[in-house]
Amino acid sequence: MRAWEKNIRRVAPYVPGEQPKSEKPIKLNTNENPYPPAPGVKQAFKEMDAGQFRKYPDSTSSELIKALSEYYQVEENEVFVGVGSDDVIAMAFMTFFNSELPILFPDVSYSFYKVWADLLHISYETPALDENFCIHKEDYYKANGGIIFPNPNAPTGLLLPLEEVEDIIAHNQDSVIIVDEAYIDFGGESAVRLTRKYENLLVVQTFSKSRSLAGLRIGYAIGHPDLIRAVNDVKNSYNSYTLNMPSIKLGAEAVKDETYFKESLERIVKTREESKLRLKKLGFSFPDSMANFIFATHKDRSAKDIYKALRENHIYVRYFDQPRLDNHLRISIGTDEEMKKFFEFLEVFLSD
Ligand SMILES: *Cc1c(COP(=O)(O)O)cnc(C)c1O
Repeated sequence: MRAWEKNIRRVAPYVPGEQPKSEKPIKLNTNENPYPPAPGVKQAFKEMDAGQFRKYPDSTSSELIKALSEYYQVEENEVFVGVGSDDVIAMAFMTFFNSELPILFPDVSYSFYKVWADLLHISYETPALDENFCIHKEDYYKANGGIIFPNPNAPTGLLLPLEEVEDIIAHNQDSVIIVDEAYIDFGGESAVRLTRKYENLLVVQTFSKSRSLAGLRIGYAIGHPDLIRAVNDVKNSYNSYTLNMPSIKLGAEAVKDETYFKESLERIVKTREESKLRLKKLGFSFPDSMANFIFATHKDRSAKDIYKALRENHIYVRYFDQPRLDNHLRISIGTDEEMKKFFEFLEVFLSD
């Protein structure tokens, strides 16, 4: 071993879902919104002057912060923005999880939490979900260095009712609690309003799923001004120009068109509910998802075999080769036409 090698930070990285290069794949593997962003986004993009890119962007992203603060009816100093919620959550880990005590997150949840904890040398415990993939709030009634969980959970899609989210926060006033609401717009009730009641609550959301802007990388957090100030101090000690000019501008445009946003959500929820019925008929079972994906297992065919067969036919779903998850497929909700092709293939494949 070369001397410098012993000083390398060794990490097992997060593995993102595949972005296939093939022509016209049916992409049901990374929970993107199958519909385009609001028309105002397209218009503002067309009108953009590339000449302005010679300058640095606004390091405070004030136009985007203003749009978000108006939408959520909070003050601008209660909002933090970052390069996708991955960036927001990584900054929050760095800012808030510095205790000697372990942080807590469910054993089955967003797999990036473990990666950030390892990267930043934060100790953690992972209370197990029960056999139905439910979070037990009592598992979080103990001293800790912080708590994070997605709601709805990923990759299960299960929603923890807001009363139970509040119960966990109420039992934990001495550490920062992060609720990762990447999928809340697809049918859950957000914890944003609880941020006025609990100063240690940070609610994180993203433009990548419900707002059809995964490619722009925009995420945000809402919480008490003291939390927001602290995470901004860390962000400005690491990289002060995070969001680029187009993201600030186009993100703000997306937030302004609430009508379009609601319509696109309704379409996805309708397709999700229809997909649940069709999956059941085909012999699948799954937790009752409130997100834009379904986490399904088949009664007699292995998830891995189904995944491979779909993939050979340019239909991509997510498969996790890990204990507890390796006989499930996470199927993102696509357009009605994409789901039709997906089901047509499955019907033939499963009748073999
Ligand atoms: C997709 C996802 C994120 C990250 O999304 P960004 O694209 O980085 O905003 C965070 N948490 C969960 C649970 C997710 O599924």
